[in-house]
Amino acid sequence: MPHRWPEDTDFALWELDVIDRDCPCCGRMMHICDHRYRRVFTLDGPLQLVCKLNRCPDPRCPGHSRTKNPETEPGIALPGWIVGWDVFCWIGHRRFARHWSIPQIRMELLDSHAIALSENSVANYVRRYQTMLAARQQDLDTLRSHYCGFEQIILSIDGLQPEKGHETLYVVRELLGKRVWFAEALISASADEVRRLIALAKRWAEALGKSVALWTSDKQDAFVTGIKAEFPGVPHRYCANHFLRDLAKPVLEADSHAKVQMRKKVRGLRGIERSVLDRRRDATSEVIETRPSDSTSKGDAPDVGGGVVLDYCAMVRGILNDDQGGPLHPPGLRMAEALGEVHASLDRSLSVKKRGSPKRN
Ligand SMILES: [Zn+2]
Repeated sequence: MPHRWPEDTDFALWELDVIDRDCPCCGRMMHICDHRYRRVFTLDGPLQLVCKLNRCPDPRCPGHSRTKNPETEPGIALPGWIVGWDVFCWIGHRRFARHWSIPQIRMELLDSHAIALSENSVANYVRRYQTMLAARQQDLDTLRSHYCGFEQIILSIDGLQPEKGHETLYVVRELLGKRVWFAEALISASADEVRRLIALAKRWAEALGKSVALWTSDKQDAFVTGIKAEFPGVPHRYCANHFLRDLAKPVLEADSHAKVQMRKKVRGLRGIERSVLDRRRDATSEVIETRPSDSTSKGDAPDVGGGVVLDYCAMVRGILNDDQGGPLHPPGLRMAEALGEVHASLDRSLSVKKRGSPKRN
């Protein structure tokens, strides 16, 4: 549906002329034969383009029946667009660099730039932007210059599920140049379909003239057979991320088991704490009974030893309750180390006590 501009829209007026006016067929100077009017949104406000169309004046020349558009017009907006390149790039950047939603982009265009587009048309521009970006990413000349310093390359393939229930997106990346080469959503990830992607990667590598040193993946069957068939002799390794993730499960299970064992062994904290507190309470009541009038007496003989015992208990309880940490820093391992430190600290205190402290014990 063509855009309906409000009647009071204040357009800036740009006249565009043909620069090269030589007839492409006979070389004669072309004449202006018609005007085409076009309106687009730009970030600087609405714009009306007046495009002067040229054609060859000689009715016998094939150039007579063809009109030529001003060369500069596609540099302002592509045919069929209602927005200029500046708005187009603004939309694409907000979507893909800032991850804005389409309704958010639409509202911001309206609020900040008075550009009224429907959600459908914003979505449409987003798709075109994405297509252009993909084409640019896959441009062979750009890739060649990106890879000119590399002797070899390392490829990886992985299936991602952007959202649950969606088809899996298969992504082929090159790890040394850190580039996503291409991605394709496969409804059925049969061995043949996967092999087609691997064969495509092979054509890319050949077009770049680079030898593939290594493939990495999570070693699904289809990857293993496809890579073996298309890249005979090229090593195929587990990618570190998948390796770690697969390793993490048994490691965390073993770690969790070790934690249970340690917690079983280190028990009775509450009993120790209660005995310290009971002793303190008895001491306090004795003091109150014997010297009820002296209010400062309670502070005179603080239970230093009891305080140290309570501190140890609090420390050990903290250690036993610490559940944070992934497979690289397993909580059970940290617990064992921390309990070992407490043990060593207790040993040191006890040996000082045995030798006899110069001050009080
Ligand atoms: Zn001509």
